[in-house]
Amino acid sequence: MNELIIRDIKVILTAPSGIDLVVVKVETSEPDLYGLGCATFTQRIHAVKSAIDDYLKPFLIGKDPRRIEDIWQSANVSGYWRNGPIMNNALSGIDMALWDIKGKLANLPVYELLGGKCRDGIPLYRHADGPDELAVEESVLALMEEGYQYARCQMGMYGGSGTTDTRLINTVYEKSKRITSKRSPKNTQPGQYFDPEAYAKSIEGLFDHLRNKLGPNIELIHDVHERISPIEAVRLAKKLEPYHLFYLEDPVAPENLEWLKMFREQVTTPIAVGELFTNINEWKPIIANQQIDFIRCHVSTVGGITPAKKIAVFSELYGVRTAWHGPGDISPVGVAANLHLDTSSPNFGIQEWTLMNDALKEVFPGAPTVEEGFAYLNDKPGLGITINEEEAKKYPVRGGIPSWTLARTPDGTAVKP
Ligand code: MG
Repeated sequence: MNELIIRDIKVILTAPSGIDLVVVKVETSEPDLYGLGCATFTQRIHAVKSAIDDYLKPFLIGKDPRRIEDIWQSANVSGYWRNGPIMNNALSGIDMALWDIKGKLANLPVYELLGGKCRDGIPLYRHADGPDELAVEESVLALMEEGYQYARCQMGMYGGSGTTDTRLINTVYEKSKRITSKRSPKNTQPGQYFDPEAYAKSIEGLFDHLRNKLGPNIELIHDVHERISPIEAVRLAKKLEPYHLFYLEDPVAPENLEWLKMFREQVTTPIAVGELFTNINEWKPIIANQQIDFIRCHVSTVGGITPAKKIAVFSELYGVRTAWHGPGDISPVGVAANLHLDTSSPNFGIQEWTLMNDALKEVFPGAPTVEEGFAYLNDKPGLGITINEEEAKKYPVRGGIPSWTLARTPDGTAVKP
């Protein structure tokens, strides 16, 4: 094939699971040859769509889709100011689609293009939650019975109270105000309230309970979600040391990464960070200084497969493993991209997994499957996944800002969610 150009780029917005997703379809001059990418920044879907429709699409029409690296580099600097979640997600939608096209051209799955299989199934962890220790224990046991060997354990979701379920947010507000251990002043603003200190105190008891009840073999993870002060997080990591966590996630916010040095000097609890990263200067120094054990970037938010593969290889050189972010606000196309990276990375650590409902599977034929705690790709060329665009139209997006990001501490201060 000599001439091959990008003929059109479409942005598809759909919400089959109730979460707004952004999928990009790059069509080529070759009939039926197209690629799909995930550009889901669920809290800013229309901004990402505009970044693609108004800027990347005119820039890329007519270019050779086989020149992935050149396109990534030139598109990344095309606005001079670069990075950030909106532009990176827009670029990711293009980048993943180009890898999908290249795989179809080669008649190989993307993981073959990234170096081939390091493993045949991808070990997963699921989220286990409950209002108290017993409920969390039951939730972990249910996952173990399904075959999962890793579980991330939260008690009352992030920050220890409330929920990310936006349908419940009003009742949560009332409930969390009631159960918080600190009183709030008059005229408190609406939001998702949590008490950082009460939360931190509750977690040692949770893991003491879980380790004693569940034994030494289940791998346990906990996500601090940057909800406590850095020194409180150091104290929590020390308290959790006897319970041998697989890792402690996001103990500090990206704005406080300097504190990771203190973690290294104080504790052996493994640390995972990175789901909020959008810039190479966030991950480069902490990997090179071996201040983390797992890098868990959100692949679309760092710009797609091209930069993520570089992060994985860079991490490998320093003994850091991957744990790509895998929440519900990733399309199955993005989930497949995670798994192609997982499959081809020797320093893969673990993959976060969110169950897909039937609507998602219908909209995205070829989505990865799960069996006994492992995810499997279908080994078709490219990313191995398609989209039923007519079916996608049945699930309109909502847009807007979710309530769970509006976190507040008991005195009413708006804080990082
Ligand atoms: Mg997290």
